Amino acid sequence: MDKNARIYIAGHRGMVGSALARQLAAHGYRQLVTRTHAELDLTNQAAVERFFEAEKPQVVLLAAARVGGIFANASQPASFIYENLAIETNVIHAAYRAGVERLVFFGSSCIYPKACPQPIREEYLLTSALEPTNDAYAIAKIAGLKLCESYNKQYGTKYVALMPTNLYGPNDNYDLKSSHVLPALIRKAHEAKVNGDATLTVWGTGAPRREFLHVDDLAAATRFILERDVMEGLFNVGVGTDLSIRELAQCVQRIVGFAGEIVFDTSKPDGTPQKLLDVSRLREMGWHAQIGLEDGIRQTYQDYAAARGAQAA
Ligand code: GDP
Repeated sequence: MDKNARIYIAGHRGMVGSALARQLAAHGYRQLVTRTHAELDLTNQAAVERFFEAEKPQVVLLAAARVGGIFANASQPASFIYENLAIETNVIHAAYRAGVERLVFFGSSCIYPKACPQPIREEYLLTSALEPTNDAYAIAKIAGLKLCESYNKQYGTKYVALMPTNLYGPNDNYDLKSSHVLPALIRKAHEAKVNGDATLTVWGTGAPRREFLHVDDLAAATRFILERDVMEGLFNVGVGTDLSIRELAQCVQRIVGFAGEIVFDTSKPDGTPQKLLDVSRLREMGWHAQIGLEDGIRQTYQDYAAARGAQAA
């Protein structure tokens, strides 16, 4: 791909968008277009159309989304479905109207059925019912990938959809009410250590299994897709292995150095029992994740502790 292509990163301050900006800048892409939420509200159709007409980007990376963990999804389903549908329809339609050649849409592994055979292949989409704790968000993300497919079919656009597994890394959300499990465990273990608590509380039974991908690996996969000129399709992006929430909590405990005991609050939901992506589609093309989970968590914890230290100072 041309290093002078005008690439609009929607959501560049989020965890995914900021990783894309770092990745592309580090590899010599010179024309990254960004707007903060205050400058451009992506749920406002007229504003989005004006922005595309004025800026005329050649490539769009659609990483703007309303995201959150199991509690946020289960308690605010209207916000999750409305905001994500609005962002997707506005951005994808305006991109098509402005003649955007290529677009990458970012979804999530929760688009797949709850009782999916594991590891999850892309073909299992829409084969049975969704996990109820995040079905509103999942429906919005399925709509996004169907928008890409439909515009490709009807208008000949080249819009690709990437479905990453659970992500973590810089600029993650550490708010315990809305975060995903990994940042939540890092924060809880750190605070338990600092406060000298006897226990660290983990939601659910600890039995569900999840797969975790460092966001810099997702950014690398995105660059791979762009540079290989992949023009359409749905691609899972993951590491290919999972672990139980109990094992994850033990791993975080070790890295943070919390000496107390892990306890499980089974009044909180487990969500889907297992979410492990089959990543052979991308692997056969020659891409695989580089950052191991222990290294990734260690790095993420260092950043988190440094930011907390800076706040306290
Ligand atoms: P999910 O992958 O969509 O279910 O989203 P999450 O990352 O929020 O949760 C993954 C699993 O981790 C679920 O089984 C949660 O119950 C469990 N979990 C354990 N402790 C926590 C916590 O402190 N926060 C969150 N968000 N999940 C937790």
